[in-house]
Parts: sequence; structure tokens; C-alpha cells
Amino acid sequence: MKGDATIPPGDMSPDEFRRHGHEVVEWIARFMEDTERYPVLARVAPGDIRKALPGQAPETAESFDAILDDFNRVLMPGMTHWSHPGFMAYFSITASAPGVLADFIASALNQQAMLWRTSPAATELEEVAMGWLRQLIGLPDSFEGVIYDTASISTLHAIAAAREAAVPQVRQLGLAGRADVPRLRVYCSDQTHSSIDKGVILAGLGHQALRKIPSDAEFRMQPALLRAAIVEDRAAGFLPMAAVATVGSTSSTSVDPVAAIADICAAESLWLHVDAAYAGPTAMLPECAHHFAGADRADSLVMNPHKWLFTPFDLSAFFCRRMDVVRQAFSLTPEYLKTPDGARNLMDTGVQLGRRFRSLKLWMILRYFGAEGVRDRLRAHIRLAQDLAGWVDAHPDFERLAPTPFSVVCFRARPAGRTWTEGELASLNERIMTRVNASGEIFISQTVLHGTYTLRVAIGNLKTTGRHVARAWDLIQQALSAESQ
Ligand SMILES: *Cc1c(COP(=O)(O)O)cnc(C)c1O
Repeated sequence: MKGDATIPPGDMSPDEFRRHGHEVVEWIARFMEDTERYPVLARVAPGDIRKALPGQAPETAESFDAILDDFNRVLMPGMTHWSHPGFMAYFSITASAPGVLADFIASALNQQAMLWRTSPAATELEEVAMGWLRQLIGLPDSFEGVIYDTASISTLHAIAAAREAAVPQVRQLGLAGRADVPRLRVYCSDQTHSSIDKGVILAGLGHQALRKIPSDAEFRMQPALLRAAIVEDRAAGFLPMAAVATVGSTSSTSVDPVAAIADICAAESLWLHVDAAYAGPTAMLPECAHHFAGADRADSLVMNPHKWLFTPFDLSAFFCRRMDVVRQAFSLTPEYLKTPDGARNLMDTGVQLGRRFRSLKLWMILRYFGAEGVRDRLRAHIRLAQDLAGWVDAHPDFERLAPTPFSVVCFRARPAGRTWTEGELASLNERIMTRVNASGEIFISQTVLHGTYTLRVAIGNLKTTGRHVARAWDLIQQALSAESQ
């Protein structure tokens, strides 16, 4: 069989895939059943994992069994478990089972939805699933949706579109050395996520172009100060270009007054971008809709299904009322990508050419839980957070440091009966957090709010129940007692 020698070595055989595939599904099911048997925060030191692995790739093939063994032995101890019901740091997220299954299928299909014809289904499902999501969060159909990986990238596209709209021929001429372009300004509050800073830097405006408007006692942007800043900047020769309003800020989940900011942006011709990366899904709840009043007048809005819509990382939903401007900024079709079909191609709506089949998980998740099921789950998380906020408020040795509009509670210990300096309180609370996180049962994080060291408990995992929140509160109180000995 002379020809056999020319057959290139292929992939794992279908039979072998079937065997390992079943094993892996079983492994995942066991993991999902009992994530709590792992410590939520990894107990390794920097470098431990790297040192346990060879520095070179193997020259000869290894069995998948051996690879899985090492995965279990070496890598699993190095996981911080975002799927653990005690994960209450940063924002608590969920890789829901329908989302995991969707990712599994999407991986196998390996669709590249750069052109319509390179994946008609992925291209059109993205349109459909984003249309569903748009309606669920109450945005009008003047908004078009597109999926990016993260909110940081969604926001970068918003800033690039705002620049495209504000600066004539910026695509052709850029910004450098142009006497006809004044220095630009973008406005946000002092609570805005660092992705806005990065977007401004990457858009070539310079970090100094970002002017941070002071927030009020409840960490909301002050519209009067925004208006004054724009007036001052215009007088000084700046060109105000865009403003970012946040619904659910990262530190305290505060809500900027979007309607008032939208009024100012309309009057001053500024691009308004709404960052609702975390809180966006709550726009589906009638009782939370008031937080989003005015968002329908934004030019763009980002929300992350990978944060609080049970979607395995990553999937960020970008909605834009002027997607034509985004296309104007980014579309560029080389000869080898020209197609005769006249269909819309997703590669025209952003920086990246190839893109994953992310819409499959959004579609499967929305169908599997149903809008009602999503709303019930969001409400359950909000209720758990309100319970904790109530316990904090009722305790003489703790105080809440921000309103709790969603599912994140900001507070600190401040034992009654003596006076404390801010430094002492910061150190006490940091030690409390370290003790709680050493438990392996609960993982919480910290922030600083207007100079005050603050503990944050974030609820948002589908496995988190009242028992876990009560346990977190117990551990926090025990840690205070231990620190007070
Ligand atoms: C988490 C968060 C982001 C960044 O999200 P990525 O998807 O990780 O880029 C941006 N804005 C807000 C308000 C956030 O909470």
C-alpha cells in the first residue's frame, strides 16, 4: 500500500473522542454537582503551577488519560472557583449548564462568522438573539446589537464611534499633527470602570482627555458638575466628544442619573455611552426599570451576559443606535473577502475579523430559562443581597457604606464603643477579609469608596442560596470577633 505513507496523521479518532467526551461530561457534571468540595479561593503561591509543569512541549504523543490526570493533579488545585456558591468577590457569575453545552457545541463547529457566508447561522442567530435581548431590556428597535468578547472592547468601540462622529475624516487623517482638531474631551464619573480610561487611551485621545466628574454621596455622577465642566472646557478650546453614564458601577453598583446626562449630551451633541456591564440584565425587571430611564436616548449601551445573565465567559452585548457610524469607522473589505451575496457581514462591525459563535449560548440560555426564569433568578439574587444589607444595618458593629440597588453589598466593620481612625478601620477590615477568604468557603473582595476602605459581597451565582449568604455573614462576624481578641 504505497499510498498509505502519504496519509497525514489525523485527529483523535471518533471512538476515542466518544470515550473521553463521555468522561469529560461526567467530570463536568460531578464538578457542577459538588463545586463546594473545592476551596473557593485557590491555595497556591505564585509560580507553584508553573513549577509543576515541564518547561517544554512533549516531543512524542501522550495519552489523553495522562493529560487528564495532570489536569486534575496539577491544574485543579490552581483554580479559583468562580462557579463556587461562596464566590462573592468582584462580581459573582455563573457558567450555566445550557451555556456550557452551547460552548461545547460551538467549539466543535468552529464557526467563523466574519462573513455572512462563512456562517449564515452564526451571523443571523447573533441578530436574532441580540434582538431578543434588546426587547427584554426595553431598548427600542432603533438599537442594533452586536456581540463582542468583553465590556472593555464594547466600550472601546463606543469611543471609537464617538471619535468617528466628532472628528471629520479621522479615519483617513488620524489625530496627530492636525491644527483643525481641538483637544478632545470624554466625561465620566470618578466611579467609572477603568475600561473607559483604556478606551480613551487606545483611541489616541490621551488619558488627559478623560475628565472625571465628582460623584455625590451615593456615588452618582452630578449632572450639574458635568454641565459646568463642558462649559469650562469649551471656553478653554476643548471639543467635548462623549460622556459615559454607568448603571451599576463596579465598586458600589451606584446608578448615574442617565436621563439628566442624556439631556446634557443631547444639548451639547455628545455621544452618550451607557455602561451597564453588570446591572444591565435588571432592566428586565419592572421594579428596576427606573434605573435605566433615559438609556433609550443613549447612542450606545453595553451589558455583559457573562456577568449576570448566566453565560460562560465571554459574551458582551453591545447595542448601538448609530451602528452605521461603527461600520463607517471599521469596515474595510480586502479583495479576498469580497462576496457576491450582498448580506451584512459581522466583520464590518468592529476590530476583529474572525469571531466565535457566541450567540449560540445566549440563544440557548434565553430559551432554556425563559424570560420569566431569568427574572426570577435575578430577583432571588437581589433578595439575598437585601437580606445581608438588613443584617449589616441591624448590627451595632457594622455599617453599610453605599445603597444596595442590586445584588452587591458594600459595608465595613466599625465596632461600637470606641473611636477609630480611618487607617485603623481599613486595617481591621482588611484583616477580616483575609480571615474570611482563608476559610475556603467564601471569597469576598474590597474597594475604596471616597477614600473609605470597603468590603464588598457580590451575589450572582445560580448556586448561591440563603445558606451561603448566612454563612458568609457568620464568617464575617467570627472574623471580627477573632480580630477583637
Ligand atoms: C466588569 C465591568 C466592566 C468590564 O467588563 P469586561 O467584560 O471584563 O471588560 C466594565 N464596566 C463595568 C461597570 C463593569 O462592572
